[in-house]
Amino acid sequence: MTAPLDFNDFHRLMEIVQSIDVGVVMLDRECRIEIWNSFMENHSGRPPDEVHLQSFFTVFPEVDEAWFRHKLETVTLLGTPAFTIWEQRPYLVRFKNYQPITGQEDHMYQNVTLIPLRATNSEVTHICVIIYDVTEVAINKRQLQAANGELQRLSRTDRLTGLSNRGHWEEVLRLEYARHQRYQSMAALVMFDIDHFKRVNDGFGHPAGDKVIQGVAKLVQAQVRNTDTAGRYGGEEFAVLLPDTDVEGAKLFAERLRQSVAAMTVNHDGQSIPVTISLGVADLSARSNDYQQFIEWADHALYAAKQGGRNQVRVYGAS
Ligand code: GH3
Ligand code: MG
Ligand code: MG
Repeated sequence: MTAPLDFNDFHRLMEIVQSIDVGVVMLDRECRIEIWNSFMENHSGRPPDEVHLQSFFTVFPEVDEAWFRHKLETVTLLGTPAFTIWEQRPYLVRFKNYQPITGQEDHMYQNVTLIPLRATNSEVTHICVIIYDVTEVAINKRQLQAANGELQRLSRTDRLTGLSNRGHWEEVLRLEYARHQRYQSMAALVMFDIDHFKRVNDGFGHPAGDKVIQGVAKLVQAQVRNTDTAGRYGGEEFAVLLPDTDVEGAKLFAERLRQSVAAMTVNHDGQSIPVTISLGVADLSARSNDYQQFIEWADHALYAAKQGGRNQVRVYGAS
């Protein structure tokens, strides 16, 4: 047992409670405010005599009363502390955020501890609500999460075109193929390659070649659905995965794309560069061993389109 406090000790303790940078509120069993420290006064703008014996819920109408009463009941009944953290509930009471680190969040993030206070007969008569300002931690964590999200996006994206890079595209294909194996879902692949692209580089220069690649990518991006994944498979080779699409649907998509590329003009240094593509289409209606085989089929059809004279669509397995 600790020795009982004398009067001076009590005053020093109150001074400590007043000066710490943490909110301290003492509530009675009816949720009326009995103690209110200067942190609470500074952030709410309301002095202790104004809130004294007022209901916590009158002073803070934003608090979910049913939830908070239940929390207090539990603390009273069990006689043990309870906590809420900002990740679950950003704040208990709405205070403005004055931290200069960012203008994004206008409220203070809070962790809250509820401590049962016992009378001498050991019955819980009051509850101490302690409010910690964790705005800085919360904002740092949020910013870190946003930065990680952006990094992840960048690691999946091809720099030149903004399409999926090969690694990410293959990962999406692998997952779609697994879905096909499990649920027999349909999917189609369109692989295509720019025709005589070496001539573009040789005749107009590498930057012009890049411009052509970007122009083609833009057309693909504009024509795919949200559920499709278009990727840059290699230098001037592209691949589009079309989930829940059979060869007929993929053929229509491929033919539309072929026509729009042929109709496109890429201007470079006052010259207009003609562009065409050859496309290979395959779907999963035949039995396959793995997703690599699926790629081989589409690639095979692409090769046939090149052999057939370029600027055309060929379907794997079709005569
Ligand atoms: P084909 O019709 O048979 O496809 O003929 P092609 O000239 O397109 O043949 P190929 O696919 O072999 O040539 C691809 C060329 O693309 C070779 C390479 O130098 C060039 N290339 C690859 N990546 C890039 C790139 O990012 N930018 C530019 N400008 N050129 C690239
Ligand atoms: Mg080519
Ligand atoms: Mg090529």
